[in-house]
This record gives sequence, C-alpha cells and structure tokens, in this order.
Amino acid sequence: MTFKDLAIAAPILSALEKKGYTSPTPIQEQAIPILLAGKDLMGCAQTGTGKTAAFAIPIIQHLHNDPHRSKQKRVIKALVVTPTRELAIQIQENFTEYGAFANIRTAVVFGGVKQNAQVNTLQNGIDVLIATPGRLLDLMNQGYISLREVAYFVLDEADQMLDMGFINDIKKLLTKLPKQRQSLFFSATMPATIVKLSNEILGDYERVTIQPQQTTAERVGQGLFFVNKSDKQELLSHLIKTRKPSSVLVFTRTKHGADKVVKYLSSVHITAAAIHGNKSQNNRQVALSAFKDGKIKVLIATDIAARGIDVSELELVINYDLPNVPETYVHRIGRTGRASASGTSLSFCDGEEKPYLKDIEKLIQQKIPVLEHPFADAFVEKPAIPAKKTRHAPRKGEKPKNPKWRGGRRDSRK
Ligand code: AMP
Repeated sequence: MTFKDLAIAAPILSALEKKGYTSPTPIQEQAIPILLAGKDLMGCAQTGTGKTAAFAIPIIQHLHNDPHRSKQKRVIKALVVTPTRELAIQIQENFTEYGAFANIRTAVVFGGVKQNAQVNTLQNGIDVLIATPGRLLDLMNQGYISLREVAYFVLDEADQMLDMGFINDIKKLLTKLPKQRQSLFFSATMPATIVKLSNEILGDYERVTIQPQQTTAERVGQGLFFVNKSDKQELLSHLIKTRKPSSVLVFTRTKHGADKVVKYLSSVHITAAAIHGNKSQNNRQVALSAFKDGKIKVLIATDIAARGIDVSELELVINYDLPNVPETYVHRIGRTGRASASGTSLSFCDGEEKPYLKDIEKLIQQKIPVLEHPFADAFVEKPAIPAKKTRHAPRKGEKPKNPKWRGGRRDSRK
C-alpha cells in the first residue's frame, strides 16, 4: 500500500515524498479513507503511531479541494485541540510540512507565553488552528477567535485532557462549534468517561483501533535493570558512558527528580538539560531545540513535559523511575521507535517499584528482559521500611523524654 493508493492529492503526495514517507502507517491506512469520505472517527491510538498525519492529510485535502475557500480572506476551517504546548507545536509543524504545497495557513496558540504574536498571526487569516484548551477559550472570550466556520474538529489525546482537568473547557468549546462539522476524536485509552465524551462529540462515527502492544511495545527493544534507588544515578551515568547513545531521553517522576539528575550528571561531566512544568515555555523550547539539533545528547523530562516530543531517530529512552500508570510506560517508550524506526528503552526498577512493573508487563503482555549491570548484586528486593518511632512509657530507671510525663494512661484516667 502506498499513499497514492489512498487517492491523496498531488501537492500532498509531493510533501510526503519530501518527508521521505512512502507507505502509510496502519492508522493512516485505516483512517484516511474514512476521513476523506467525510465521516466522523473515533481513533484509539497514541502518539508515535503516525496519527497526526492520519488526521492532517485528509483535512489538508478537504481544504485544498474546497472551491469556496477564499485564499485572500481566510477563516478558521479546521480546529485541533491538544493538551500540551509541545504537542500543539509538533502538530502545527506537521500541518505546515504536509500542507507545504497546498497553500494552507496554520497557527498555534497555547498558554504560558504572551498572546500578541499569536493574535497577530490569527489576524492575518488562517485555515487551521492548533490550540491548547485554556488559551483557546481565552482568545475566544477576547473576540480574537471565532469558530463559526469550523468544518473539521479534532480532539487529540482526549484521555490526557481528562487527566489534566480540561473536561469543562472541552464542554464549553463544544457549545461554540457548528453542529455541521466533521469530528475526529483520538485517545490512547478508552475508559468509560472517554466513551461518554466521544458520544457527545461525534455523530455517526467509525472506529479505528491501533493497539499499543501491536505498535510500540513490539517495535522497541526493551530492557530492565533491578537497581536500588541509591544506585540509580550511577547506573545512569554508567549507561550513558558505556552505550554512548547519540540521543537519550530520561524520564523521572518528579520535576525535582529531573533537576537532581541534571545536577548529578553535570558533576560527572555529562551535559544534560531538563524540561518540566516549572521551566518557562521559552526555557523548554530552547532545551528541546538543542536536543533535537543534537547539541545536547541527554534530556531529562517529566511525563507531562515530554508529551509530543518528537525527535526523529531518538536512540534511547531511559525510565529512571517507573511510571505508576502503565499506559504512561507505553507513551514513554513510544518516544523512540517512532513510526517504522526501531529504538531501545531501558527501565530502572527499585524494590518499591515492583508493583508498577507488574502492571506494565500485564498491559504490554510481555516480560521485559532483565539486564545485568555493575550494581545488580547490591539490589535489595524489599527495601526495609523504616521502623516507626513508637512512644512508650519510660522503662524502669529510664528518664522520661517528655519532662511533663506524669505516668501515662493511669494518671490521665484519674
Ligand atoms: P505521530 O504519531 O503523529 O506523532 O507520528 C510519529 C512519527 O512518525 C512522526 O515522527 C512522524 O513524522 C512519523 N511518520 C508519520 N507517518 C509516517 C509514515 N507514513 N512513514 C514514516 N514516518 C511517518
């Protein structure tokens, strides 16, 4: 199967060719014909499967073929809503690339930065808007954005949006969209809340499911290190120094943890940068660009900040901490081995993280191979739980620690 077989217009084919894409990924193969036929779609797929192109290509084609579209006075015809800034930027880049020869104008709006530049772009007239929910509603309230002409609506990463508390924003948004539209809904997981939401958004829809275990987990080489929490830093620097990856993305559970790892690596002469929610948007973009350009080989990230990071040929992902939500593991390792590429993911598991490992292996229906390492012998299966300090009455001859102690219960019952 080639893109030509999917009846894609010549300018888009040229753009795909320029990108070096020859054949569609499974989600593209299934979703593109449905979307070109104008139907609504519920896609169960995650980042890394090629889903952005699966929705961007048909939207660009519809816009390209629209005889009523005025190239002078453009109005927002397509709206893509996505949870994070990084993902929004990524999606806009994809639209720009795939639509390079189809005369499509795009804009991206997200919070955390001044709005002036975004407003200027909007006022020049655009066809496709990619937005995070908060800033979108804000600019709508200020009258800079009208959704009256939206004919294509994409809700991306819906499960993440719910997790991040965007549900009310989404509901508000839905009331502002024209009833007559094509809607696309993407989510990596489909819990009951998501199914309910999709029923509110979609009309008579078709469903496409790309199982994570069919895609990421099978494509990415995985390894596991049982390691004490106290040895994780040294194991990380050992792996970076011995494996010499051209690029490695390291996931930590917390922002503080990410900063600590950067500091440690710097002390052993490994340059790294961290991206997480406490860093300014500008700071995050600078770090991300340096990583994408290969100027920094090691990037430490928390899950939220890493959503949508798309670095072609990312060689290695390291789970410095195992995630407590098993789907997050699949998202993380999906940063490497994008589309048809293969990559490696290595995970650290300390004694306390074993229950997380169990959940992950259940989800991906695989046992992650356990690898040897220099700190393996020191591994403690069950870290001792620090004994709770118990208060007790002073023993015979012992001085009471609390000078006010007058003999405990017996006295107090008087
Ligand atoms: P996505 O799931 O949209 O984040 O896409 C994952 C990665 O696959 C991105 O780096 C895309 O540029 C790339 N990609 C998308 N479609 C194809 C394709 N048909 N062939 C090769 N790479 C692709």
